[in-house]
Amino acid sequence: MTFHMTMKYIILLSLSLSFHITIAQQSFDSVMITTEKVKDNIYFLRGAGGNIGVLTGKDGTIVIDDQFAPLSNKINGAIKTIDPGEIRFLINTHLHGDHSGGNENFKRMGATIVAHETVRERMSKESVNSGTKEVSPPRDKDAWPVVTFKNTINIHLNDEDLELIHLDPAHTDGDVAVHFKKANVYHLGDMFVTYGYPFIDYGNGGSINGFISSLDKLLAMMDGNTKIIPGHGDLCTMADMKLFRNKLADIRDQVAAALKKGKKPEEITGLGITDKYEAEWGKGFIKGKDFVLLIVEDIKRQQTAARK
Ligand SMILES: [Zn+2]
Repeated sequence: MTFHMTMKYIILLSLSLSFHITIAQQSFDSVMITTEKVKDNIYFLRGAGGNIGVLTGKDGTIVIDDQFAPLSNKINGAIKTIDPGEIRFLINTHLHGDHSGGNENFKRMGATIVAHETVRERMSKESVNSGTKEVSPPRDKDAWPVVTFKNTINIHLNDEDLELIHLDPAHTDGDVAVHFKKANVYHLGDMFVTYGYPFIDYGNGGSINGFISSLDKLLAMMDGNTKIIPGHGDLCTMADMKLFRNKLADIRDQVAAALKKGKKPEEITGLGITDKYEAEWGKGFIKGKDFVLLIVEDIKRQQTAARK
């Protein structure tokens, strides 16, 4: 990594860090939890942090992601307003704190936490941010998933069949797509977001190529009636996801082509690769040039790994 790249990477990491800290420090007292019906007995809740999916019914409630710990009581209250039944399972789409921050609280309420095996692994260990070298302690043991899996796991409740699917390393290496098979609804965690350029968390095993291949595999399972709860943002369709996927692939392909021609990172950021996406995506916490550098870094890293 050149000095320039290192600096850019650190800037990018601190940007993403400050994004999370900004959310974490905002007054949780003022956060309202809103509920939107997706279909039948499936809902999604918003407050601060990642979107929460909820399935209710006579067999009990399943919750997908739980935002930040100070919001747990409010989230639980909103869920109980839909259905007073007990929360039996809490699924984490990945390990980030804006999706799993309330794990300890929901465990104490009796929920069984389910996630990909690397989520438990990473939560149980100290982690070092590869850019800033900042050390994060392990999560409280009560936050760790107690049911983990490698590829897929199914949960059958309330006459619905949920399939939890781990695809390729994307936003992290522990991403899980939750498929409500009968309802044709998905919760995709941060493999699909609407705030702008997505964050690819290398420190936790993320990858641009895996991001795109995971989206391709999911798109092949969907149709025009599919409803998608993204990690952040409004309810989406397959067409929205296809556009998102195509933008990522366009940026990745152009960066890869420029690298192949021997261009340096600082030259690649000057090519205007993301210019046509800035109006829509530039409003997010990652800017176009930083996203391009993130892709450069990822492609180089993968090439180095392939040579070993
Ligand atoms: Zn995330």
